[in-house]
Amino acid sequence: MHKEDQPLIFELSSPGRIGYSLPEVDIPEVDLAELLPEEYVREAEAELPEVSELDIMRHYTALSNRNHGVDSGFYPLGSCTMKYNPKINENVARFNGFAHIHPLQDESSVQGAMELMYDLQEHLIEITGMDEVTLQPAAGAHGEWTGLMMIRAFHEANGDTERTKVIVPDSAHGTNPASATVAGFETVTVKSNEMGLVDLEDLKRVVGPDTAALMLTNPNTLGLFEENIVEMAEIVHGAGGKLYYDGANLNAVLSKARPGDMGFDVVHLNLHKTFTGPHGGGGPGSGPVGVKSDLIPYLPKPIVTKRDGEFIFDYDRPQSIGRVKPYYGNFGINVRAYTYIRSMGPDGLKAVTENAVLNANYMMRRLAEYYDLPFDKHCKHEFVLSGKRQKKLGVRTLDIAKRLLDFGYHPPTIYFPLNVEECIMVEPTETESKDTLDAFIDAMIQIAKEAEDNPEVVQEAPHTTVIGRLDEATAARKPILRFQKA
Ligand SMILES: *Cc1c(COP(=O)(O)O)cnc(C)c1O
Repeated sequence: MHKEDQPLIFELSSPGRIGYSLPEVDIPEVDLAELLPEEYVREAEAELPEVSELDIMRHYTALSNRNHGVDSGFYPLGSCTMKYNPKINENVARFNGFAHIHPLQDESSVQGAMELMYDLQEHLIEITGMDEVTLQPAAGAHGEWTGLMMIRAFHEANGDTERTKVIVPDSAHGTNPASATVAGFETVTVKSNEMGLVDLEDLKRVVGPDTAALMLTNPNTLGLFEENIVEMAEIVHGAGGKLYYDGANLNAVLSKARPGDMGFDVVHLNLHKTFTGPHGGGGPGSGPVGVKSDLIPYLPKPIVTKRDGEFIFDYDRPQSIGRVKPYYGNFGINVRAYTYIRSMGPDGLKAVTENAVLNANYMMRRLAEYYDLPFDKHCKHEFVLSGKRQKKLGVRTLDIAKRLLDFGYHPPTIYFPLNVEECIMVEPTETESKDTLDAFIDAMIQIAKEAEDNPEVVQEAPHTTVIGRLDEATAARKPILRFQKA
């Protein structure tokens, strides 16, 4: 199955070939056997590949070209958006004054970096409509947990210790129930209605004096805006619970609607999604959390604040839930988000949302002729299709995803959310051109036609990749490793 087109680095080895040059040793050589216990000293030299600098550069460049990534091709993942990573962000993050400072430096010597953090907080406060923001959490799920710990501290400070449950819709992101559990709550599921939105009657049924909070992913994982947010806020607040907004994918509402105005008490953002930080294998995340004023005392400490014209870390916060991350969050990713916000400006950020929503609706409408559309209404930044029609022809959604690899695309998210049969979830993102969208649509149309005329070609895909079709479960449990022959 493995096309032997790219040898292992060991197979490129040629005795005596080297990729570096070091000066002659001008100090006495050390005999390792004298320094180490005998049993730890090698009997023979390690068998390392002997290659030139060019050999090694070309080898790893060739391997890297087999990766899918936003910089190499369209990546319509869905739910965990891989977005365009503007290169200006990288330039700014590499400024000496940002890249070469140390978190233990005295505050007076890093005022510029602290000003950037403070300003970023201010921008995020404006963008979300909240009263204060912490940049500490390192990712979306970490922000969720931080927010829930604050909600818990709030209820406890009010002597409200019976609030043990967090309500999570079945269309929420999977991290929501996980974070609620890790924060020590019991998760209660509220159902979606036939429109794909939270069922208000079911919400009224599950809400009560034991409700600590409702966590809402908006738009939900079907890509739909929760239209009844005001009613939901009344129901949950009426029962004494808090409202949590999962704002990981704010590119759907940015500059159009603010969680703070909708009545939410806590929101987290994913700077590594909406605000263009490279993520996945590409870099660390950042999941800032914004809160309304009654939760400010519980924010993780320290927070960056301004006092008498100076930026300081404020540790004097007796009701704080404590620290959730060493130092002050992932600074480098915060620099990138700040650069993005400043380089886009208010009009640019508005255009983000308009393009994200336009691209998703354009693609959804064109594909709805060939695939089932479970919720026939405007979507936000992403949408779901169902491969039910193709399944009747013996072609599963998994086959469609595999076939997309032959066209050079990273497949979208599949079989999620769970409430849609043979689900295919697509997020085109705001930065792709119409040409790119059309090319992907053409590939999806061709696959739908193949499912009718020539299903084997889809069922047996991929045909053009280095490794053919893998059994997912076996591939994860028993990876095939190729080693150099002994
Ligand atoms: C990605 C995502 C998360 C989790 O964020 P991580 O940074 O991966 O922890 C939470 N909610 C939604 C809606 C997401 O898309």
